[in-house]
Amino acid sequence: MPALLTMGIAWTSGRVPRAIGRCVDKDEGELVILGLDITVPGLLCGACPKPFVVAEQMRPLTLRALAAKGSFMSHASLNSPEHEQFREMVRRFTEEELRPRAREFDEMGRIDKSLFKKMGDLGLLGLRYDPEYGGAGLDWSYTMVLFEELARCDNAGVTMGISVHTDMATPSLAEFGSETLKREYLVPSIAGEMVSAIAVTEPDAGSDVSGIRTRAVRDGDEWVINGSKIYITNAATADWLCLLAVTDPEAGYGGFSQIVVPTDTPGFRYELLDKIGNWGSDTGQLYFEDVRVPVANTIGDIGRGFQQQMMQFQDERLVGCVSSIAGSVHLWEETRRWTEERILFGKPLSKMQNTQFKMVELYTELTAARALIRECVQRRVDGEDATGLITMAKLFCGRVSRKVADECIQFHGGYGYMKESMAGRAFVDSRLISIGGGSDETMQHYMAKQLGF
Ligand SMILES: Cc1cc2nc3c(=O)[nH]c(=O)nc-3n(C[C@H](O)[C@H](O)[C@H](O)COP(=O)(O)OP(=O)(O)OC[C@H]3O[C@@H](n4cnc5c(N)ncnc54)[C@H](O)[C@@H]3O)c2cc1C
Repeated sequence: MPALLTMGIAWTSGRVPRAIGRCVDKDEGELVILGLDITVPGLLCGACPKPFVVAEQMRPLTLRALAAKGSFMSHASLNSPEHEQFREMVRRFTEEELRPRAREFDEMGRIDKSLFKKMGDLGLLGLRYDPEYGGAGLDWSYTMVLFEELARCDNAGVTMGISVHTDMATPSLAEFGSETLKREYLVPSIAGEMVSAIAVTEPDAGSDVSGIRTRAVRDGDEWVINGSKIYITNAATADWLCLLAVTDPEAGYGGFSQIVVPTDTPGFRYELLDKIGNWGSDTGQLYFEDVRVPVANTIGDIGRGFQQQMMQFQDERLVGCVSSIAGSVHLWEETRRWTEERILFGKPLSKMQNTQFKMVELYTELTAARALIRECVQRRVDGEDATGLITMAKLFCGRVSRKVADECIQFHGGYGYMKESMAGRAFVDSRLISIGGGSDETMQHYMAKQLGF
């Protein structure tokens, strides 16, 4: 039976205990996870009788090593023992590093950049990416587990800032980027040394992506970029942007390109925006005034940016579904606890039939949403097209999330309306999922066409 050892991972194979890490010449016969004050007596190196050490600096290697050994490869079931080991690891990270600081993150109003380094050290920032660039070489099922757990951190903004980096701004680079671009931007992004943002929406074009006007004009070997983007997550934190710009206004859908723009390039600046929710993330307006970047910073082929961005949106929407529903499940659980403790008319709120019926209804819808998400994930794992299903999931999960938040704030009464209440924050945070990454109406518009209306 596999055994998880907090931040490091070890497992047993048959009767021989094995572990991933560095074998050292020690006599104690212990597995030691450096920096974590944890030892496991009797766990030895599989190749020799010496004890084993999982060094702190080697943690990123552990997931990759497991993937390489086939231990973390795709499973027909999305709930294999390996998934559960991984879940435990992320849960521990969430409980130790994120949840205790949830309100501090709100006050910061931007994502704490050091979190990325910590996650990079644990190998959590490039789960599906090629081990050649530091990724773990896993599949979408592990992304699902990652965000099911991170979303329980009591700060939707932090989860959003992380997911923008891992699954909204980097997928195109990983899929279509040149070797040089990947070495320069993907490798440090997976290591948590660089943070990314996705810059598509503009003041005059959100749902209608083809209406964007930010222009990249070629001047020799450089793009000269002018324009503006708005509502961009990680605006203040990002080291580079995955920018969608018009490179040929005459070429229709073949006239857009995705370009890596480092945020320290002269002519770039941002202003932070004041949001009603998701306080733990920084959202801003970006300005480009004669920003010069090499044409070699183009991700994939010049003119393929629109199509690549549409593909990248699939990861964005699916990770949005996972995070929002996981956050709603967490809220449902906490609300249940509240109804059991809150006494009204001499008995717990949970003993009233209205409470039970509503909680069952929410539970049913959350279960349906999770089933839909799992079907999307399974299709991604199987390499099948999931566009229609992800579109419907985005629409459905957004509505379920909003409904859960609305009902849960009601169960909390006046306390639910306080900023410190989880239900109150969820009420505003959950509103975003029906807008960001493509609004409900954008999903309906797409599906209406798919269904032949
Ligand atoms: C907190 C936050 C973070 C964000 N992060 C990012 C980010 O990191 N990167 C990024 O690029 N963008 C980001 N966005 C932008 C987000 O993706 C857009 O707000 C969204 O796509 C909607 O665009 P819009 O705001 O321009 O609304 P509009 O496109 O102006 O839409 C206005 C209304 O029209 C509706 N509508 C759309 N299409 C139709 C239709 N066919 N028929 C009828 N009605 C329709 C919309 O649903 C909406 O109700 C973020 C937004 C927020 C609020």
